[in-house]
Amino acid sequence: MTFTIAATVDEALAALAAGARPVAGGSDLVVGARHGKSPLPTDLVAIDRIDGLRTIEQTDAGLRVGALVSHATLMTDAAVVGGYTGLADAAALVGSPATRHVGTLGGNVMNASPAMDTGAPLLVLEATAELRSVDGTREVPVGELWTGPGRTVATADELCTALVIPTRPDRSGSAYVRLEYRRAMEIAVVGAAASVVLDDDGSIGSLVVALSAVAPTIVSVDVSSLTGRVVDDALLSEVADLASERATPISDLRASDRYRRHTVGVMARRAVEAAARRARGEHITVPVNRAFGIGATA
Ligand SMILES: Cc1cc2nc3c(=O)[nH]c(=O)nc-3n(C[C@H](O)[C@H](O)[C@H](O)COP(=O)(O)OP(=O)(O)OC[C@H]3O[C@@H](n4cnc5c(N)ncnc54)[C@H](O)[C@@H]3O)c2cc1C
Repeated sequence: MTFTIAATVDEALAALAAGARPVAGGSDLVVGARHGKSPLPTDLVAIDRIDGLRTIEQTDAGLRVGALVSHATLMTDAAVVGGYTGLADAAALVGSPATRHVGTLGGNVMNASPAMDTGAPLLVLEATAELRSVDGTREVPVGELWTGPGRTVATADELCTALVIPTRPDRSGSAYVRLEYRRAMEIAVVGAAASVVLDDDGSIGSLVVALSAVAPTIVSVDVSSLTGRVVDDALLSEVADLASERATPISDLRASDRYRRHTVGVMARRAVEAAARRARGEHITVPVNRAFGIGATA
């Protein structure tokens, strides 16, 4: 077994090319190994000291969020909260304060759990993952990144260096809502994210909805038929129906497939409502779950 500590991206890429697996916060990889989910890889490269992967910057392509940015930073960063609020909603729900401080965006995305909280907001915000290896860099839209539980299109020698989220237009808003049975140390029973852009007359110019924990990967819902309508009760009911129809959940000890299919519709409806209110300029505190009173009382 080898354990390397990389100080630069190039050192990390060299270790990956030699067969090592990256570990960032370790809150999936190490915790999973301790719980017997899968053994620790024989060769590991720690990437958590590469400061260049910890920055959030505005670029011509949009907001570039380094793979090592923690959930604790995401939920409070002014640019994320101001323009990409659904991502902040998701980060604010992850685990506990300790989990949010060690857990990273890159680790969440590359772990590829269908229940990951940042996946659905990244999908509705049309983010791309920046993947680097010693051979070069490529950009992969997150909708094409995840191929199954724990699986991505990234090759073993590729490091996710950042997630890039296109700049949002005026009159846009996003939100992420999840069903949870308690307020900490929880993963989503089901979750939904929405991104809304309103036209000048207040009708929907663009609407994107994505779901977590109801399929082998994060999935988007085809809501294109709703463009041009106003966000009212009738529309929100249609969103709920479309989301429930799209879901193909499993039953496990936390919920039956039937319960998940129903509740993901409820979450999708609330996500669209919150995103539309934000698009109209209303302030809804991060995370929407707390603002809407979802989850057990504190
Ligand atoms: C108590 C607890 C509660 C949790 N609650 C939640 C929750 O509510 N919601 C949620 O979504 N998650 C939750 N998690 C899971 C975990 O905290 C998050 O997924 C976290 O973001 C993982 O980040 P990390 O840096 O710790 O990843 P790591 O464990 O370091 O890595 C995870 C995987 O991604 C790979 N990887 C890491 N970084 C990169 C990179 N830059 N490029 C390529 N591959 C990489 C690793 O090789 C590994 O396979 C919880 C975990 C715990 C222990």
